[in-house]
Amino acid sequence: MDFSLSPRAADLQARVRAFVADEIEPVEAAAHQRITRLRESGGDHWTPDPVIAKLQAKARAQGLWNLFLPATHAGRYPADFGTDGGEGLSNVDYASVAEAMGRSFLAPLVFNSNAPDTGNMEVLLKYGTDEQKEQWLEPLLRAEIRSAFCMTEPAVASSDATNMAATARVEGDEVVINGRKWWSTGVGNPDCKVFVFMGLSDPDADRHSRHTMVLVPRDAKGVRVERMLTTMGYYDEPLGHGEVSFDDVRVPLSHVLLGPGRAFEIAQGRLGPGRVHHCMRAIGLAERALELAVARATSRTAFGKPLANLGGNRERIADARIAINRSRLLVLHAAWLLDQGMSAEAYSAVSEIKVEVPSMALDVIDMAIQLHGGAGMSDDFPLAAAWVGARTLRLADGPDEVHRNVIAKIEIGKHTA
Ligand SMILES: Cc1cc2nc3c(=O)[nH]c(=O)nc-3n(C[C@H](O)[C@H](O)[C@H](O)COP(=O)(O)OP(=O)(O)OC[C@H]3O[C@@H](n4cnc5c(N)ncnc54)[C@H](O)[C@@H]3O)c2cc1C
Repeated sequence: MDFSLSPRAADLQARVRAFVADEIEPVEAAAHQRITRLRESGGDHWTPDPVIAKLQAKARAQGLWNLFLPATHAGRYPADFGTDGGEGLSNVDYASVAEAMGRSFLAPLVFNSNAPDTGNMEVLLKYGTDEQKEQWLEPLLRAEIRSAFCMTEPAVASSDATNMAATARVEGDEVVINGRKWWSTGVGNPDCKVFVFMGLSDPDADRHSRHTMVLVPRDAKGVRVERMLTTMGYYDEPLGHGEVSFDDVRVPLSHVLLGPGRAFEIAQGRLGPGRVHHCMRAIGLAERALELAVARATSRTAFGKPLANLGGNRERIADARIAINRSRLLVLHAAWLLDQGMSAEAYSAVSEIKVEVPSMALDVIDMAIQLHGGAGMSDDFPLAAAWVGARTLRLADGPDEVHRNVIAKIEIGKHTA
C-alpha cells in the first residue's frame, strides 16, 4: 500500500493550499456577510458573488482547474480544460488536494471541483455521447453553466434508490418526465442549466433495470423549482437545495444517458469517487476547525490561564488530532483501493469512510465550537456552518445506516461464501 504523493500532486497540493490561504480565506467572511445581507433585505442572494468568477479565472490561469478529473480521462481535453494539461490525478493524489480545498466553503467552487457538478461531469465523461459532451460537459468544464442531480423524492424513502417513483417513460423518439424531486443541490444558482434526472422507465423490469437517467434542460417546459430548502437555517448559497416538479416534460430520446434502464450502472460509477471527495474535503474542514480551536484556546484567558490549560482541553485537542489523522489514513486507504480498480474491498472502504469521516468532523467541529463559547454558535466564525455541512454528510449520498449495511454485507459474505 503506497500513500505517497506523486511529485505533481505534491506541487498541486502546495499550490492549492497557498491559493486557499492567500486568496480565498481572506474574502470568505465578506462573501458570507454579503449573502446574508442580500437575503435579509430581500435581494438576490443566489447569483454567485462576483469574487468567485474572479478567483476562478485566476485559479484556471494557474492550472488549478477541474482537479477532480480522474486519471482514466487523462489528456482527453485541451490543457485549459483541466489539471495542468488535461491529465487527471489518481484518487490518492487527489485526496490531499481535495483536503486543501475542504477548508473553505468557497474553495471547491473556485477550482471548479465542487459537488454535484463534479459527479455530473464524471457521468458525462464516462457515459455521455459526443453530442451530450459538447452540449453540457464542455460548458461545465469551463464553469459557464452549473448542474444538479435529481434523484431523491419527497414521497418515497430515497435511501433505497429502487424506490424512485417519478417517471421517465420512452414514447417514440421522446422521453416524458413526471414527478417531484427534492434536495436537488445546485438548483438555486441561476447558472444551473441542466439536471441529471433519475426516473422509473419500466416498472416490470428487474429491480435494477427499471430506472433511466436523462438530461433535462432546466428551461424545458414543465420544469418548475417549487421552493428552496434550508439545512438547519442555511440556504447554502450559491448552490442551494431545491424541490423541483416535472410536469409532462418532454426531451428527445438522445438526452438519455447510456440507455433506458441503465440508471443503476451509472449510479454505481458516479458515487464511488464522489463519496471519497466529500470525505477528503471533510478532513480539511476538521483541520480548519482544530486550527481555529487551538488559536482561540491559546489566545483567550479564563480563571488566570489560557483556555487550552483549563479542564480537559489539552486532551480534547490531542484527541482531535488523533481522530483527524486516523480518518485521513482511512480515506487514503479507500482512495488507494479505488485506484486498484473496483472490488468488494473498495466498496466496503468507501462506505467505511462515508460513515467514519463526517462523524469525526462533527466531533472536532463541536469541540471547536465549545472552545469558542458563544462566538462558536454565531456566524462570526465559520464553525456553525461547518457543523451543519458535516451533519449533512451523514445523509447525503446515503445515510450512515445504508453504508453500515454495505460493510456488514461484504463482511458477512466473506465468511458465508
Ligand atoms: C443537504 C443535502 C443535500 C442533498 N443533495 C442531494 C442531491 O443533490 N441529489 C439528490 O438526489 N439527493 C440529495 N440529497 C438527498 C439524500 O441523498 C437523501 O436525503 C438520503 O439518501 C436519504 O433519503 P431520504 O431523505 O428519503 O431518507 P429515508 O430513505 O426516508 O431514510 C430515513 C432514515 O431511515 C433510516 N434508514 C434508511 N435505510 C436504512 C437501513 N438500510 N438500515 C437502517 N436504517 C435505515 C436512516 O436513519 C435514514 O436516515 C441531499 C440531502 C441533503 C440533506
